[in-house]
Amino acid sequence: MKHNFGAGPGILPHEVIKQASQGVIDFNGIGLSILEISHRSAEFESVLSEAIKLVKELLQVPEGYSVLFLQGGASQQFAMVPYNLLPENGKAAYLETGVWANKASKEAKYFGEVQTIGSSKESNFTYIPKDYEVPADAAYFHITSNNTIYGTQMQEFKPSPVPMVADMSSDIFSRKFNVADFSLIYAGAQKNMGPAGVTLVIIKDDILGKVNRKIPAMFNYQTQIEGGSMYNTPPVFAVYVSMLTLNWLKAKGGVEAIEKENNAKAAALYREIDRNSLFKGVSAIEDRSKMNVCFVMNNPEHEKPFLKLCDDKGIVGIKGHRSVGGFRASIYNALPITSVHVLIDAMQEFAEKNK
Ligand code: PMP
Repeated sequence: MKHNFGAGPGILPHEVIKQASQGVIDFNGIGLSILEISHRSAEFESVLSEAIKLVKELLQVPEGYSVLFLQGGASQQFAMVPYNLLPENGKAAYLETGVWANKASKEAKYFGEVQTIGSSKESNFTYIPKDYEVPADAAYFHITSNNTIYGTQMQEFKPSPVPMVADMSSDIFSRKFNVADFSLIYAGAQKNMGPAGVTLVIIKDDILGKVNRKIPAMFNYQTQIEGGSMYNTPPVFAVYVSMLTLNWLKAKGGVEAIEKENNAKAAALYREIDRNSLFKGVSAIEDRSKMNVCFVMNNPEHEKPFLKLCDDKGIVGIKGHRSVGGFRASIYNALPITSVHVLIDAMQEFAEKNK
């Protein structure tokens, strides 16, 4: 068995993979594969509506919000957000907490003025800027709740005087938060929700209709809402596996229960990083991510042999992103705490051998 610490597409629950494989062969006993049925069939319509219902239930989405399953990844949302929300002579505020935040603001510049109101670029994004002020005349304020590459995470969401938009690709469904604090939330599925190919968007209906530009149908939230995420053929299989994963989460006790597990996993791993003299955390302690744990070794020559030891123990996907180096252990919802203990044991074994 492998211990999958990959950053994304990330680990999915084993039972979900088994159910999904069954659905590929024979979906719900109908004698057809999920891969070969119409998206307009009653069978798929019930998958999509169940997925939407689960999102609403698990995140306690209030009235007045639409839940969409779109394509194009979080990267398409980088453009769709300003396309739909940033008026031509308006401006949007962005918090620069990493490459993804940066890519998001770059897209917004095609549509209007962008004001970067805080940045940790000078320290290679090892912390979340906190002394920023959101301008009251901005059309919206964009944040990245968890920075997958750098292992930083916003621990709280300060109230914003303007609509808040969040890229939650790498921590949605991992912890409780208040949807009502946001006007738009988006997340690529491939960390905590399902396989790559579908993107979750939760949008407050009343923020739409405030820009005058013409928006092509596929990029227009209004069209997607009116089409019920079926303006065109949706990614049927990715929606199906997301529904199964959300069902798995519900059966586990939902977001509140998984948050407790995630806290325990992160605490155990950071404890070892701080205790073990060979290892060192990368990000500011108060901003440490509970999804992506980034660390390096005090002696860079130890990194290759440690990686080899991990490989021998079936620990995969922990090599750090090229822009940070070292290691990144992604400990998403589906990763069991037993895998975290296998990694901790490997760290201790390596330290013992290299005293
Ligand atoms: N935002 C964040 C925080 C991410 O981690 C990623 C991908 N890892 C993206 C955006 C880009 O997502 P996609 O590949 O779905 O466009």
